[in-house]
Amino acid sequence: MNDDIPAPRISAGFPGGNVRVLGIEGGTVRLAPDLRDTLQFWFFWRFRAAFPAEGTWRFEFPDGNCVGTRGPAVRREGETEWRWLSGDALHESDRVFEWTSAGPETVEFCQCVPYQGADFDAFAATFADDPCVSVSELCRSRAGRSVPLLRLREGDPAEAVLFSCRHHAQESMASFAMEGLLRALASDEPWAAAFRRSFEVLAVPFVDRDGVEDGTQGKFRIPHDHNRDYGAAGGHLYPETAALERLLDERRPVAVLDLHCPWIRGGETNENAYLVGIPAERLWPAQAAFGALLEKHCPPEAPYFAADTLLFGTHWNLPTDFSNGFGTGFSRWAAGKPWPRLAQGMEIPFANFREKTQTPDTVRAFGRGIAAALAEFLSAR
Ligand SMILES: [Zn+2]
Repeated sequence: MNDDIPAPRISAGFPGGNVRVLGIEGGTVRLAPDLRDTLQFWFFWRFRAAFPAEGTWRFEFPDGNCVGTRGPAVRREGETEWRWLSGDALHESDRVFEWTSAGPETVEFCQCVPYQGADFDAFAATFADDPCVSVSELCRSRAGRSVPLLRLREGDPAEAVLFSCRHHAQESMASFAMEGLLRALASDEPWAAAFRRSFEVLAVPFVDRDGVEDGTQGKFRIPHDHNRDYGAAGGHLYPETAALERLLDERRPVAVLDLHCPWIRGGETNENAYLVGIPAERLWPAQAAFGALLEKHCPPEAPYFAADTLLFGTHWNLPTDFSNGFGTGFSRWAAGKPWPRLAQGMEIPFANFREKTQTPDTVRAFGRGIAAALAEFLSAR
C-alpha cells in the first residue's frame, strides 16, 4: 500500500461527524466510533478523508463491527447523493473497507446514509406552496436548537396520528421512511386526500435533535437515552420527550408510529424490517392487522413480512427492555394510553431487507407503504 505518500487527513468537525483516529500506518487507517456518553460499544461513525494523492487505503475498525452489509456509505466532495461502497453486493468484512483514489480528492464516509437537519429543511421546503403542510417548533433542545414539528392536514380534522424518528440520533434510515410516508400523505391520491381530511398528521423528525447534529449515535446514553425517558418517576431528562408527551396528552393521536433502526447487521432480526411487539394486549389485534396491511402495501424492493413482527416477550423484546430502572420507550408508553388504536415502534435496517439492498429511495417507497397501510387500517372502523 501507500508507505511513501502522505496520509489522508481525517476530519469529523461538521454536522453529524463522528470518529476517533487510533493510528495511521503503512496505508492503513485505524479508527473507532467516538462513543462519548454511550454506555456500551456502538457502531456509528462518519468522517471526511482528504486523500493527498492516488493510492489505495485500508480503513479498519479494530474495536468491533462497524461496517454494514453493503460497506460504508460514500460521497465524493461535490456530490449530493450517497452510495454504498459495495453496491448491491455483500460486503463481507464487518470491520474493514478499502478506498482507491485516482488522485487528490476529498471523500465522505459514513456507517449509514446520514440524514441531518439540513436534509429535513430541504424536504420541508418542497411543501412551501402546499397549504396542507406547516412546520412549527415543538420545543428547544438542551443545546437550544429548534426542534421541528411538521403538521399535515386539510381543513380541521378532529383526530390525529403521530410519527416520530431519531429517538436514537444516528438511526437515519428511519428518516427516509418518514419522508416517504409524509410525501405519500401529502400527495394527490384520493386515499391520501381522504386521510388528511380525517386525521391531522403530526411528525417529529428529530426527537434527539442535538444528537443528530452533533453526530452522537444516541443509543444507551448515560444515564438513559431519549427512548427510555417516558413515564419515569423523576420526570423527563430531555426537553423533546417532555414536549412529545405533552403533545400526545393534548392531541391524543389514534395512531402512533415511532421509527427506528436495528443493530448494524447479522443476527436474527437486523436485516429485515419489523414491528416491535408491544406489551399492551388490548392492541395486539391491531398490531397483527397492521402487520398484514404492511405486507400488502410495502413494495417488492422494500418488503414487509407480517411474520417478522417481533412479538412482545420474544428475542430482545422483553419486559425489562434495557430500562436500567428509568422510564420506558415511546411506543410502549403510548400503547399504555387508552386512546390509540395503534401504537408501534418499527425497526428499519440500514442497508438491506433480506437480499434487497436499500437506498434512500427504496426506503422512501417503504414509507409510502406504511402510509397506505395506515390509511387502510384506520378506514376500518
Ligand atoms: Zn432506536
